[in-house]
Amino acid sequence: MNLVILESCHSTWIFDSRQLRFCRILKGIEVGRRRVSTEWRPYWELDVDPRTEAFTVYLDEGRTRLIRSSRHTPDGARCGTDDTLELSLEDIRRTAA
Ligand SMILES: [Zn+2]
Repeated sequence: MNLVILESCHSTWIFDSRQLRFCRILKGIEVGRRRVSTEWRPYWELDVDPRTEAFTVYLDEGRTRLIRSSRHTPDGARCGTDDTLELSLEDIRRTAA
């Protein structure tokens, strides 16, 4: 499985680059001791800007539908939250299964 994992301020984005699908695991929310994740959604291309923390998810081939977000910086410069990654690899495997 080819997973690309990006951290934004409010969620962890998991991209399955082989099957071209992605989902998000929402931070700070747990239900029944399990983290809340969105359904897998198809996407066309992921574009990560190497100069900034921004990334764009193109949802269709024509690039008419897209989602923009940006990565959480470790010092919390963007959102003021100096949080650490609490997501375990097991969480990711369970979500990606
Ligand atoms: Zn942040």
